[in-house]
Amino acid sequence: ASLVTVLFHLGEMATATQSLDEDTFEALGVELGYKIQIVSPEDEDKELLEDFGLDLDAELEAETDEELEPRAPIVTVMGHVDHGKTRLLDAIRHADVISGEAGGITQHIGAYQVHHEHDGVTRAITFIDTPGHEAFTAMRARGAQVTDIAILVVAADDGVMPQTIEALNHAQAANVPIVVAVNKVDKEGANPDKIRQQLTEYNLVAEEWGGDTMFVDVSALKGQGIDELLQAVLLTADAGLDLRANPNKDARGVAVEAHLDKGRGAVATVLVNSGTLRVGDAIVAGTAHGRVRAMFDEHDNLVTEATPARPVLVIGLTSVPGAGDSFIVAEDDRTARQIAEKRAAAERAAQLAKRRKRISLEDFNKA
Ligand code: GDP
Ligand code: MG
Repeated sequence: ASLVTVLFHLGEMATATQSLDEDTFEALGVELGYKIQIVSPEDEDKELLEDFGLDLDAELEAETDEELEPRAPIVTVMGHVDHGKTRLLDAIRHADVISGEAGGITQHIGAYQVHHEHDGVTRAITFIDTPGHEAFTAMRARGAQVTDIAILVVAADDGVMPQTIEALNHAQAANVPIVVAVNKVDKEGANPDKIRQQLTEYNLVAEEWGGDTMFVDVSALKGQGIDELLQAVLLTADAGLDLRANPNKDARGVAVEAHLDKGRGAVATVLVNSGTLRVGDAIVAGTAHGRVRAMFDEHDNLVTEATPARPVLVIGLTSVPGAGDSFIVAEDDRTARQIAEKRAAAERAAQLAKRRKRISLEDFNKA
């Protein structure tokens, strides 16, 4: 029988030149007596790392309570275009209680950390400095879940718009709690309660209305409400998130931004998820590898180590990793290079396989 006929009996109407989805492939395998295994790129990479004695999941599972220490929440700002995401990230940068003395945040490295003081306690919050959900989805697509909390910016003079809904859908799908920043409350005609009303339709009910989402009225332009917003982020983190990591091991994390710098070569901003990254460490980020030659923070200060949730700019990679690529510290340079090379080979193979997948059923029948 032709493959089209087999597929027809499986309840699939197929034409001779169509490509098949994974479920159909599996059913076809059963029908024809082959065991078809579909391996995801994530599984493949996991196996690749296991060949080097690295099992990152097992590593995390084995961590004991005593090894875990509190870390800063990592926050992404999302919302409709022109609702004030960039302004808000600026205003938050200026609200840092520590950098005030150190001269402020001078470097845009893709992420920054600010400090918020409440009742005499100073705590850090890490912000991903790329507004919008493109960055969020790009990272998620690579399997990197870097965001703990999303700040949803909604302009009080405009209201819920298509990208507002898109952003909250992304956050909710990823199980990331949302804090709503009702922005532009300084404007005439601003109606913050209308925003609260509109968002009830999307399961975001303000605390003061009996729900469990924190809404904060802000003016990014005037710097109003920023402290309250930071406080809301910390309260949301404390209410439902267990933000702890083991700082006492080789670093694992994510590259959030990377580019080629004329003078310094490949530079990447990385966020450590667990462990501590140190100058001199051999690292692999995606298919890039190298040794950490130097690290800088968002104040352009040289730093010698980065603990969990502390973003740093890393110099010393041989090539530029992609935003959202995971990174790990390897045993030595050689291991780092080998992992990077194997990954590059796997990527090439996947590219080839993609092209071959377009092979038509017609070709199958001829064979
Ligand atoms: P984004 O597209 O979400 O990044 O929005 P921007 O941060 O670029 O802001 C869009 C416009 O709104 C700019 O002209 C800002 O100056 C203005 N804007 C942002 N926040 C406020 C605010 O709190 N009040 C007022 N009046 N204007 C604001
Ligand atoms: Mg912007």
